[in-house]
Amino acid sequence: MPIQLTEAMIRTGALKESLARGREYYREGAVYDTAISEDILTAKCRGAYAPHYKLRVEFDDAGVSNASCTCAYEYGGYCKHIVALLLAYLNAPASFETQTAPQDLLRELDRDQMVELLTALMRKHEDVRNAVERWVAGTVRKSAAAKSADRAKDTPQRRTVDDTPYRKRIRALIREAGEYYNPYDEGENEELVQGLDEIRQVIVDFLDADQPRDALAIATAVLDEIRKSQDYVEYELNELEDFTDQLDMPIAEAVLSTELSSAEKKNLQKAIGDDDYGYPAARDALEYGWTATSRADEEDDNDDEDDEVAEAGDDEVIEEYIAGTANDWRLRGYLRADVVDAQLNVLNRRGDHERYLATALAAGRHLRYTQKLVELGRGPEAAQYAAQHFKRAGEALTLAQQLHAVGQVDEVLAIAGYGLRLAQPRAELGRWLAPIAKSRKDNDLALRAWMAVFDEDPSLSLYQKIKALAGKKWDKTRTNLHEQLAHSWQHQVHAEILLYEQDWDAAIALANKTRGGFSSQVVEIVADGVMQHRPDWVVEIAKQSAQALIDTVSSSHYPEAAEWLARVKKAYRILGQGSTWDAYLARLREDYRRRPSLQRALKAL
Ligand SMILES: [Zn+2]
Repeated sequence: MPIQLTEAMIRTGALKESLARGREYYREGAVYDTAISEDILTAKCRGAYAPHYKLRVEFDDAGVSNASCTCAYEYGGYCKHIVALLLAYLNAPASFETQTAPQDLLRELDRDQMVELLTALMRKHEDVRNAVERWVAGTVRKSAAAKSADRAKDTPQRRTVDDTPYRKRIRALIREAGEYYNPYDEGENEELVQGLDEIRQVIVDFLDADQPRDALAIATAVLDEIRKSQDYVEYELNELEDFTDQLDMPIAEAVLSTELSSAEKKNLQKAIGDDDYGYPAARDALEYGWTATSRADEEDDNDDEDDEVAEAGDDEVIEEYIAGTANDWRLRGYLRADVVDAQLNVLNRRGDHERYLATALAAGRHLRYTQKLVELGRGPEAAQYAAQHFKRAGEALTLAQQLHAVGQVDEVLAIAGYGLRLAQPRAELGRWLAPIAKSRKDNDLALRAWMAVFDEDPSLSLYQKIKALAGKKWDKTRTNLHEQLAHSWQHQVHAEILLYEQDWDAAIALANKTRGGFSSQVVEIVADGVMQHRPDWVVEIAKQSAQALIDTVSSSHYPEAAEWLARVKKAYRILGQGSTWDAYLARLREDYRRRPSLQRALKAL
């Protein structure tokens, strides 16, 4: 793959200061030992605080995908050394020594040589040793997963996976995060997050490979290490807290998937702590197993607040979460995990559809219940059930999209149309449904869909679209839309629509109503819009607005005051009262002759 690099890419990737200093470094030839191996550039650069810094830049199709330098620069964008390296490559790619790609180098070696080489490297470099350990554990796990069914029969007492590499890995992650810890940095430590994601993925892989005891062994081990780390890490790493929250579901699923020995149970109890804090699903799974029921059901009366926070927060995420389709485990951390969802995930993995349906039905997991029905080819049944039980438009959207994917369009229109009557937010459902309804020649439904969008996200273009679609119903529809606007805070959109309708007096009434608010934007839009039709009003409103700005005695407001005066002038001209304007302006100049900055602003008039 040819490397994609342009001067503009370098410019947009670095702050001004780094660019300027990087250019100097490049011109001075501070970058040396430059090499290229496939799509990776490496080099050294003379340094101010070290004999040299080591540089490395990786490329992908789109350009630079990763750039690192051993200097301490941390103010955003590339450091000056990286800039110098990129300029060097841009100007003289041929000067870079071409290194053989790793796989080509290794292909030359036979097995014994390979073992010899890796042994030497592992003895010399601790990080290579750890990386190899993890890689071996991962590879062994994959081949084990492939044979797991046979293996389980042959050796039911099989020992669980060796957790040592994972313990080492998380200790290293925490240690490194500690070295770079900065209490004033509110962003995430990406390396830590990525490392934790990998560990979580391993745990989920084990679950998917039907090796729940291995999943549990790793989860228990890393939680144990995190607990121990509190002895040597004195600050709180939020990334760790998110990570442990997100382990709740996989742990609960693992517990439900297998018989645990009392020693395993004890270890797990210890890892998740004795207090009642965190791991709600895992605790319920441990204590009640398959007889556990949803906490949300029991607590519905006295614990509404939590649910509402979650519901108002991120509807889509909740839909995905409830549907079990949230691929990003980080998303799941937002939500209170529930043991019933863990049960459903396990039944889903086992392909036990009947028990899945019974469990979802009993626990009131309406969306998951209907989604499974659709999956089993029972779309009409799902639509019927949904029409009786769904409460939120988001649920209807999720199910409608699933039905659409399997081509059951009649059910799509039924359930989505029903969803338009359910609780907000509805705009997303409306936006998705409208074109589908239109293509099915169902104009009424398309109209309702766009109305739902307008309710939450009004705009002039949508207003025009609805008008075109409404036909004979326009009068009634129009009244509805204007009622919605009158009760909303979308004054600017409202003004644009009134001007589009040439309802000058309603627009003026709206402008008068919003005067003295945070922003004069609505008044400006209306003043410009009605200029030709109501110039006398514009004269008054523009004079008042200008005067208010002049009275602030703050020169930063004078340019805006001048803009209002320009409107006064224009309106007087339209009224045929040019001489009145001249007199007005002359008096302003006289009244404020001691304010030079205002005089300058008046000059252009
Ligand atoms: Zn640097």
